[in-house]
Amino acid sequence: MIEEARARFETLKAGGMMPSPQGVALAVLELTQKHDASIQTLTHLVQTDPAMSGRILRYANAVHGGSLRRIASLPHAIVFLGLFRVRQIALGFSLVDHYRSGACTAFDYLGYWTSSLATGITAQHVSTQAQCPPDESFTCGLLAGIGRLALATVFPQDYDSMLRLGLSAPALCQAESNSFGLDHAELSAELLQDWGLPEIFYQAVRYHEMPTAAPFSAGSRAQTLTAALHFAGKVGALLNLDAAQRWEQVPSLYHAAAQIGLEDQQVPPLVENVVAQWQDWGRELHLPTHDFSDVKLLLGMPPDPTQDVNLSALVVLPMRVALITRDAAHLRALAETLSGMGLVVELANDRDGALRLLREHRPDLMMVELPDCGEAAVKTLRELRVGEASRQIYCIAMIPAEAEAGVANLMLAGASDYLLLNYSEAALLARINSAQRVVSLQGAVRAERESVIRSSGDWARSNRRLLHEAHTDPLTKLHNRRYGLDRFAQEWSFSAHSGTSLSCLMLDIDHFKQVNDNFGHEVGDLVLSQIARAIERSCRKDDVVFRYGGEEFCVIGPNTSLADAIQLSERIVREVRAGRYGEENKRFPITVSIGVATRTASDRDQEALAARADKALYSAKSSGRDRVVAARPDL
Ligand code: GH3
Ligand code: MG
Ligand code: MG
Repeated sequence: MIEEARARFETLKAGGMMPSPQGVALAVLELTQKHDASIQTLTHLVQTDPAMSGRILRYANAVHGGSLRRIASLPHAIVFLGLFRVRQIALGFSLVDHYRSGACTAFDYLGYWTSSLATGITAQHVSTQAQCPPDESFTCGLLAGIGRLALATVFPQDYDSMLRLGLSAPALCQAESNSFGLDHAELSAELLQDWGLPEIFYQAVRYHEMPTAAPFSAGSRAQTLTAALHFAGKVGALLNLDAAQRWEQVPSLYHAAAQIGLEDQQVPPLVENVVAQWQDWGRELHLPTHDFSDVKLLLGMPPDPTQDVNLSALVVLPMRVALITRDAAHLRALAETLSGMGLVVELANDRDGALRLLREHRPDLMMVELPDCGEAAVKTLRELRVGEASRQIYCIAMIPAEAEAGVANLMLAGASDYLLLNYSEAALLARINSAQRVVSLQGAVRAERESVIRSSGDWARSNRRLLHEAHTDPLTKLHNRRYGLDRFAQEWSFSAHSGTSLSCLMLDIDHFKQVNDNFGHEVGDLVLSQIARAIERSCRKDDVVFRYGGEEFCVIGPNTSLADAIQLSERIVREVRAGRYGEENKRFPITVSIGVATRTASDRDQEALAARADKALYSAKSSGRDRVVAARPDL
């Protein structure tokens, strides 16, 4: 499958039509692929493009966060971000700039970028859940759908006809595969791979639209990044829909959030932050974003049924009617009839009063008296229908009999039904009946939606617990081997691309077999936990400590030189030596041996680095234990 996509991609790429970075971005991409690229050369290159310089600076400050001082110069921003990340940013922004329109008319190029931008920003916000650095998540999100743009670019006519069929995910992918030899998800992955992005990115991108089809094991970084991108993609898509479609998509957004352990009440503030940054970046990149007065309302948690009148309870509560008329006296009879039918009636005589009534009392039904179906009447009705909450209220327009011919105008302006002012009791009853039915149905839909949203909170918590368990060694409560090796690979990739140092400590308890032999296996277990705590106490915040297996542990030190790693190792050896272990009143001393190595240019991958640390550990053992031995960098 993947080989076929690969081969097909190579053929398409040879056609020379694939989206690719241009100008300075292309030069940046080429420069940073060279091993001897320096920050200085890169800075000079980026400076030739003022827009790019501005964006890199702005971006560095955005990910830098508010806690530290602002980054004011381009060289600082580049040093802060590192070559690898500058390259990704240049790539992303160059594509945004150069592919804003095209020949595939059914493909909304600007809309595509607008929602990709929101996807990138969301991915950045959930980078913790993705287990991926925030800036890398951004690029990954921004480019996650690039295969769609590529199909629109390479096959503008054929893709145009296909898009006009209005297919969605699985069917669209199938159609793309049939016509073009690979689908947009595969194509996105191939492009990211071609641009030199890390494997975990393009794997996650390949599966993010259909995360259940991904072959990744639960809790692995590939899986969490895929799930995070899935959620980010949902936010990206949601912000580009119209209000009615958004409403339908909200439950599935909560569903995707729960899968990455985000609780229901965390979603609305997160999306609000995303929207603010999205509008900001949209202005910078000249992309049309929307104003969302209703996003909060749309995503807002349903009211607590114990405190507020639950919307779902409307099914059984009497309907509340807002009667909006210029002359209340003239509709008094109607108000009385409605009350007699068991409805709760409230009256408003003017526009402001009506708006207040709709906003504050949230009636189920509004009945608006209009003099005719002309422009002014349409305008009045429209004004009353502004806002998500108001649009959802069932609305009956009441008009004089002679205006009936123009009633279509009112229906277009948002009326749900109409009633002639000289109504008969039967006609009124029929109208109220059908309103009641729609209101009940809406109530049922809301109730279901609320329960989906609410239960997503419990689900998020259990997902978080599962994720935590999948990463944790049950005995020592340290990270387990799988998580540790995943992180090691991640730190390796960052270190290798950014040129920062990386150290690996391999630690083995001395004569541990004797502990089991002398005190029993249970005490052995207890000692393992006690040693784990001693190691943790000696490590720094950014060190990754995990149980490598049995009575062996591993510490990964990002940004740690050999001298610093030796110092850290000595600290651990001393800390362990100083303690007493085992059960209360029967404690005994323990020592550990550590082999330490720091990444060199000749280490091919993280396994080569670990092997050197392991070899050093062996020397520590054979030269007497309770000590640190460092691997020589040239061995
Ligand atoms: P050395 O100083 O050479 O490392 O000596 P050692 O006795 O520690 O060496 P060895 O690796 O031969 O023995 C490790 C022992 O650790 C063997 C195994 O029974 C024990 N062990 C491994 N995992 C666990 C565990 O989870 N609990 C307990 N209680 N013992 C364990
Ligand atoms: Mg051992
Ligand atoms: Mg041992």
